[in-house]
Amino acid sequence: MPTISAGALKRMLSLPSNIVVRKPRIGEDTHGGTVVTVPVRPYANDMDRCAKCGRHGRPYDWLGTRRWRHLDLGCARLLLEYAPPRVACREHGVTVAMVPWARRKSAYTRDFEQQVAWLSVHAPRSAVSALMRIDWKSVGPVCKRVADDLRAEQGGGLFDGLRSIGVDETSYRKGHRYMTVVVDHDRGRVVWMHEGHGEGVFRLFFETLTEAQRASIRVVTGDGARWIDSCVGEFCPQAERILDGFHIVSWATDALDKVRTMVWREARRTGEARK
Ligand SMILES: [Zn+2]
Repeated sequence: MPTISAGALKRMLSLPSNIVVRKPRIGEDTHGGTVVTVPVRPYANDMDRCAKCGRHGRPYDWLGTRRWRHLDLGCARLLLEYAPPRVACREHGVTVAMVPWARRKSAYTRDFEQQVAWLSVHAPRSAVSALMRIDWKSVGPVCKRVADDLRAEQGGGLFDGLRSIGVDETSYRKGHRYMTVVVDHDRGRVVWMHEGHGEGVFRLFFETLTEAQRASIRVVTGDGARWIDSCVGEFCPQAERILDGFHIVSWATDALDKVRTMVWREARRTGEARK
């Protein structure tokens, strides 16, 4: 039977360079699907790092074997297997040691999570869950971990170069809770979200920006709410306030509906009077 070297396997699976890969096992899951399990471990120098700060800690004890789901190998599910130690960090106390292939407290590898998060931007959660073969309840936490990482990487730079933004409020939990969302129209993505709505919440967004970031904003779209006007007037008076198309169409449709009802009532009254 042909074999594949550990180095080649590591490259094929795009695993981090600082890990050791051992001979994979091929088995079956409970549904009869093929599962490839690859035993791995970090390089000796990276085995005792605190998962919170990445600094070396003192070995504390060893946990049992864990498995992390990686991107599928063809049609087979692929799992990385390792028994991580716990380490005592001077600052963070006893934590499970960092592993180079996965985020803290995740049962998926970074690459797997990146793919889930990317797909979630383009497809409904049910489709992501079916295609990636994961529980739909896991999709949200995966996206949160990826987003937290991106935010930490980008820092305040996420708000650099904002030119035209849109703000809207949306409700969830059957209309019991509100959320304010700010989008970057140029890059077509959400840049800020916060629980609650109204002037107090929108102010928090502007307070997060630097002077230069506020000054770069040229257009703010949204509905006709006064709290949008007052925040824009205070924080970026140079920006043009534009009512967004969605609300204009919605108002026009409502108005048309009222007129249609009025005309219909009028016509019925006139018709009855003529009888
Ligand atoms: Zn630490």
